[in-house]
Amino acid sequence: MTTTVIKQKRAVAINPIRACAPIGAMLATFGIHGAITINHGSQGCATYPRHQMARHFREPIEVATTSLTENTTIYGGRENLVVGLKNLYERFHPTLITVCSTCLSETIGDDIPAFIDEFLDNNPEVTIPILSVRTPSYVGTHITGFDNFLKELALKLPRKSRPNGKVNVIPGWVNPGDLREIKHILREMDIPGLVLTDYSDTLDGGLYSPKPHFPRGGNTLDELKDSANAKGTIALQKHIGGEAAKVYNKRFGTPAHILPMPIGIANTDKFIETLTLLTGKPITEEIEAERARLLDALMDTHMFTTGVKVAIFGDPDLVEGLVRLVAEMGMEPKYVLTATDSVNWSKDLMALSDELGLDMEILVKSDLYALHKKMKAHPVDLLIGHSKGKYIAEEENIPMIRLGFPVEDRYGYHRRSVVGYQGATALVDEITNAVLERKGSVISNTLLLEGNC
Ligand code: SF4
Repeated sequence: MTTTVIKQKRAVAINPIRACAPIGAMLATFGIHGAITINHGSQGCATYPRHQMARHFREPIEVATTSLTENTTIYGGRENLVVGLKNLYERFHPTLITVCSTCLSETIGDDIPAFIDEFLDNNPEVTIPILSVRTPSYVGTHITGFDNFLKELALKLPRKSRPNGKVNVIPGWVNPGDLREIKHILREMDIPGLVLTDYSDTLDGGLYSPKPHFPRGGNTLDELKDSANAKGTIALQKHIGGEAAKVYNKRFGTPAHILPMPIGIANTDKFIETLTLLTGKPITEEIEAERARLLDALMDTHMFTTGVKVAIFGDPDLVEGLVRLVAEMGMEPKYVLTATDSVNWSKDLMALSDELGLDMEILVKSDLYALHKKMKAHPVDLLIGHSKGKYIAEEENIPMIRLGFPVEDRYGYHRRSVVGYQGATALVDEITNAVLERKGSVISNTLLLEGNC
């Protein structure tokens, strides 16, 4: 096998697949009831994330901005932040405020934690937590923003008291549908758990009249404080939440289990096994049935998917999970690409390639321009990634499975799940149908190739 790792050397990204870092911290903040983010930067640093998130989640996205201008860029944004925090507190009455730095405020060197301290000293009536999260987009991506938020949360909020018998689960960057699937597994196994953070309802809510001041759902501050007393912490994405799980372990002695994203049979097995290991709870008949249905779906479809060449791009943990699932389907991942600059990720992918006997190119810190060039030289049959890849799929006339963030040219995708046995079964069906649509039609379980039907 000749799997190779290629790291982008170009100083500029062409058609990047990443989003900016504050979006990650904003997304995690949405998982806390009544919390709100203020981005310390220019207005665009709030408009761009709002725009991206609203188009993916189809929900109103509220975020404040300190609205830095030319003057504040030169003389510093202290006053804007201090006044902004006061306005935000008085007008919104939030339960928690996340202050995200941006490229601009990091570059001019604003000391955000000191500004927050000054604000709290001068306003003793403000007793809510205010978290400062470093999110310059020239250091990392939306993944980094989410991860930094979780670390900050784990460092500042939990308080040790009495064991609560719960399991903390940090799913990482997933969709509300995925969070619901994880909660379904916990419920089914009768395991009291806390999903950190839980934006399943806040970013996929209903229409209520009168409109609630803050969207329903999300973790309460009491739940977050109590997370120190859990039996253990399971992080389902190494790049988002793995470090936070280690913080829980270091601060409170809570065992940390850092697993691959539970996509497909093997990865979901690991998650379920870890849950039983931590809690002693048995695997229920319903969970076994869900696993059996996934196996059945793989059996039913393998004759159509075996040997199908696929390119996958997106967030590192998502891509890693998808590589395993498509390999379980007998497909051949040819190009796997992420924008994140992670040596560990490429090492993990190399190990996965060795384990599964794959032959693929691993593109690190890369972009869609590089992927398209590769695909032109050596075509694949299927593309998996978020909406920004649709131009490649259209030009190469191949089907595309939309996964990741953002999916902005389809509706309802944030409600779907790809994790757990049920999520994988739905994904196996979708991928197979896309392949069939491309290859031809099936009559009496026999594939008739285009031109022969
Ligand atoms: S300047 Fe930086 S933080 Fe602001 S929107 Fe652009 S990438 Fe994001």
